[in-house]
Amino acid sequence: MKNIIIFGAPGSGKGTYSAEIASRYGMGHISTGDVLRAEIKNGTELGRIAQGYIDNGQLIPDELMIDILASKYDSMPAGQGVIFDGFPRTIAQAEALKTMLAQRGHDLGMMIELIVGEDVLMERLLRRAKLEGRADDNEETIRKRFAVYHAQTEPLSRWFADEGIRHTFDWSICKTKEGMLDAIFKEIEKQNA
Ligand code: ATP
Ligand code: MG
Repeated sequence: MKNIIIFGAPGSGKGTYSAEIASRYGMGHISTGDVLRAEIKNGTELGRIAQGYIDNGQLIPDELMIDILASKYDSMPAGQGVIFDGFPRTIAQAEALKTMLAQRGHDLGMMIELIVGEDVLMERLLRRAKLEGRADDNEETIRKRFAVYHAQTEPLSRWFADEGIRHTFDWSICKTKEGMLDAIFKEIEKQNA
């Protein structure tokens, strides 16, 4: 399977769709958010550094994220394709990912962009706050994450389009999780045919 980059705003469903894709096609799955939360939980030095950024809705510095990502990638089973969930989030991360993969004789594969309106995103994240109790899922931090997304991450969408690998799926058109998954699975199969 080709590698897949799942791209979208906070709450757009990156983690949910990644898990569905990973189990359907037997692919590896790297969620940088989950990696960082595990480091925090385990009280590591990296976790301590990450916590300050996450609690403020800011991104972890690129160099640190790139190192983490490369070592995770190398720990994945070879040959099955990997889903990148929450990475890259900046142009520098995207360039570094492309280089890292090229050094291993691999490529970016395909990018899946999830488009969801901000009112829906806010509602989902506030609901998740009640269910999962994530410290960064409060209204003030969510607003900061949206601002960081618009300033630092959204411009990357164009970068992927220029690479010729962007595939966009719009919640307002698909309307349900099943509708989104249907469209996403079809595109993945087309790209791997
Ligand atoms: P969702 O998973 O619902 O789409 P999200 O994108 O806000 O929501 P995560 O991907 O879990 O959540 O990321 C949580 C936080 O972890 C981010 O706000 C950021 O501080 C940090 N983080 C995760 N990935 C990166 C990355 N690639 N670069 C920098 N910081 C990151
Ligand atoms: Mg996530």
